[in-house]
Amino acid sequence: MKDGKDKTEVKEIDCIEAINGLYAYLDGEMKDPQTLAQFEHHLEHCHTCYSRTQLETALGQLIRKSGEEGQTPVKLQGRLRKLIDEF
Ligand SMILES: [Zn+2]
Repeated sequence: MKDGKDKTEVKEIDCIEAINGLYAYLDGEMKDPQTLAQFEHHLEHCHTCYSRTQLETALGQLIRKSGEEGQTPVKLQGRLRKLIDEF
């Protein structure tokens, strides 16, 4: 019944590829299901990229919230960016 080829193989990607796709992922612009699967597969196995995704998600929400409140989040953004770079 099973020939072993019906299972979709998820290609392993490295952290560089994951980070490159991070913003597309967060913006909902990662349309290719295979790319999406690869990205999520990487997150499941890489704590560094998983944490970074969590951080970027939180940062995005924070900036959106600040924007809605009419504040300029530049200072905060810079501070968090620095944090991410040091991460
Ligand atoms: Zn990674």
